[in-house]
Amino acid sequence: MTVEERPQGVSARRTLLRGLALGGISVAVSACASGGSKAAGEGAATTVPAPQSTDLPKTPDGALQRLLEGNKRLLANERLHVQTLSDIRKHATGQSPYAQVFGCADSRVPVEVVFDEDFGDVFVTRTAGNVLSEPTIGTIEYGVLALNTPLIMVLGHQNCGAVKAAVDAMKDPSKLPTGALGALVSALLPAAKAAKGEDVYASALEAHVRSVVATLEGTPSLAEAIKAGKLRVVGASYDLATAKVTMY
Ligand SMILES: [Zn+2]
Repeated sequence: MTVEERPQGVSARRTLLRGLALGGISVAVSACASGGSKAAGEGAATTVPAPQSTDLPKTPDGALQRLLEGNKRLLANERLHVQTLSDIRKHATGQSPYAQVFGCADSRVPVEVVFDEDFGDVFVTRTAGNVLSEPTIGTIEYGVLALNTPLIMVLGHQNCGAVKAAVDAMKDPSKLPTGALGALVSALLPAAKAAKGEDVYASALEAHVRSVVATLEGTPSLAEAIKAGKLRVVGASYDLATAKVTMY
């Protein structure tokens, strides 16, 4: 379906109220347009056609496979999703992302590039050090309950400054920042304390990503979707030096 053929009215999308029974939570949406299909990959800069919107995976495993295939294309220097301004504007009327990624705010980990994806394909939430808060969990819940994403990938990265700050603060509490930044780093202290082995930073990162995955899996509304087979939460790490994503 092309953008022009989409049946949805733009005005109806400006204020969209969607009540969802899943998990007993009603999701009211006013700012984020949702639903609709898109013409993924239109205008791709290579001769290889990008996957079309009808190909978007609907299952957790299919979504994971597509993300990892996108990273493989990046590593092979065979990116498909390079958009023109015209391509980008075609996404204005709706979104139907097939996966969520909860990443770090680090400027070197742009999710759509890491997974060679188009505008509208991945619902992305990012905070420094992948630190969760209630509004952040709410954002991720929105992606599942309103946008029906079947996969959440928690994507940490090696040499994460926030994780390093927590490990350093664990060794020397005087290094713990004050204020809101201190609260952020404090949230990573349990993972820093759980770290072991030669590379304590990598170990702390893995411990933290695994704990975020467990927290999301234990969030009631998400747990219900997982139990129903509609959702999977996975943890992974991105290597800044190689651009490779590795599953935990
Ligand atoms: Zn980071």
